[in-house]
Amino acid sequence: MIFVRIVAAVVAFMLVSILFFVLTGCAAQRTAYHAYIDPAGFTPEQIEPITAGLDTWHAADPRVTIDVTVGVCTNPQAGDGSICITQSCDIQASAEGETYPEADDGGAVKICLARVTPGYLDGVAAHEAGHAMGILQHSPDPADLMFKASTARAPTANDLEIFWSYR
Ligand SMILES: [Zn+2]
Repeated sequence: MIFVRIVAAVVAFMLVSILFFVLTGCAAQRTAYHAYIDPAGFTPEQIEPITAGLDTWHAADPRVTIDVTVGVCTNPQAGDGSICITQSCDIQASAEGETYPEADDGGAVKICLARVTPGYLDGVAAHEAGHAMGILQHSPDPADLMFKASTARAPTANDLEIFWSYR
């Protein structure tokens, strides 16, 4: 009888451990980020719409925050929530912007100003920030910010649903 109790206690402990691992594993996905905009790559007139684009995430869902600093990303660590935005056309030939996630939480964003649709820098920044925050897929809906060739300027309810599905 005591043997049965010991087995039951061990099984219960294992189940609680697994549950704890699953819960803390999900909770590790952050919702607060810090973006750095490289001042060598953008003029103040360009930094303004980039910042506006990043701000749309918080405006769409107050639980998501992206603090913005105009400055270079110093020693970003994988998973520290740093989003490093630079101006570079060393990306896919047709892309306006591209993101290289270091981990799920943060990434290196490259924006090719020469290819950005005039007046759409905010949308490009918002879209790439979505990738940097862990959204690895594109939405099939052309109305969404995370559509591959999006023309949206802010996250839609569907974009937010995709965002939260990664958490
Ligand atoms: Zn994309």
